[in-house]
Amino acid sequence: MSPSPQNPDLQPSRVACRLDLEGEGAAHDYLVVPHSRDDSAWGAVQVPISRIANRPGPTVLLIGGNHGDEYEGQVALLKLARDLDPAAVRGRIIVIPALNLPAAQAGRRTSPIDGGNMNRAFPGRRDGTVTEMIAHFVTTRLLPLADAVLDLHSGGRTLHFTPSAIIHQLPDPQMMDKSLAALKAFGAPLGLVLEELDDAGMLDGEVERRGRLFLSTELGGGGTLTPTTLRIAEDGIRRFLAHLGVLDPALSPAPAPTRLMHTPGADCFVSGHESGLLEPLVELGAEVRQGQPVARIHFHQSHLQQPVTHHARTDGTLVCRHVPGLTQAGDCLAVLAKPYP
Ligand code: CA
Repeated sequence: MSPSPQNPDLQPSRVACRLDLEGEGAAHDYLVVPHSRDDSAWGAVQVPISRIANRPGPTVLLIGGNHGDEYEGQVALLKLARDLDPAAVRGRIIVIPALNLPAAQAGRRTSPIDGGNMNRAFPGRRDGTVTEMIAHFVTTRLLPLADAVLDLHSGGRTLHFTPSAIIHQLPDPQMMDKSLAALKAFGAPLGLVLEELDDAGMLDGEVERRGRLFLSTELGGGGTLTPTTLRIAEDGIRRFLAHLGVLDPALSPAPAPTRLMHTPGADCFVSGHESGLLEPLVELGAEVRQGQPVARIHFHQSHLQQPVTHHARTDGTLVCRHVPGLTQAGDCLAVLAKPYP
């Protein structure tokens, strides 16, 4: 078969799926991604994958560790895949707790093997890097099976979010209603209709373009997790599955209120143009007015240079901010959200 970069569906994946995706009951195995290298001639990266099936019913794909330094999804999905009794399922749940396994093992956003940022690698490439081959497998083998996809993100080492479930504004009103219902069902404190500044290469668009339900999250950040944010993830996953009819409602926590907000336009994002020492001026969750200072950048190597202050360009609630004490030119410093109409 000749390569066709325009349509990756036409090229069979080089990733071997050892798990029988069509089987019934619970099973746990690996995606075997060829990775011949200096210290392993015929080596491979083995990505854990689980299936919990009791059909008929829809197929839901649950993904964690798309970015390796985001932990709620990874821990919640490891627990879910081990614990879930197929008798409680109506349909099929496919679970990958650490999609970019090399990144997850390194505690990094991107893969130490190839520098790959999984959520910028879609639809992937058959003959690409390890990261691109995994993305290509998801695109060609898993997305055609999935009625719904939940991709669990957090802020990672460089951002901190108010725990949020995320959807995008979609052109099809029916899909938008369906997505909003799933967003509310997840029951995170914040339900964010997020405008991506640059969505090229993301799993999100790959699913949305197929007309399938896509839900994501931003559950916390700072390169760690807390009992509270993990609980939001675990409860939200079960509510989402019950909402889709795939999980026995008796195993789903009670509904939880979600504050619906959105980020309508680039003015909601504040970024820095300097590298230096960050002085945050506003706490996460604070109400901010247009023109209000939200962050200041100091220059510790030039102690006589005045710091630079960055201001909100619109009114809103601070739902995300930069985490590390050091910041680089071009970093996202803050995100403001407004009530969803
Ligand atoms: Ca992420």
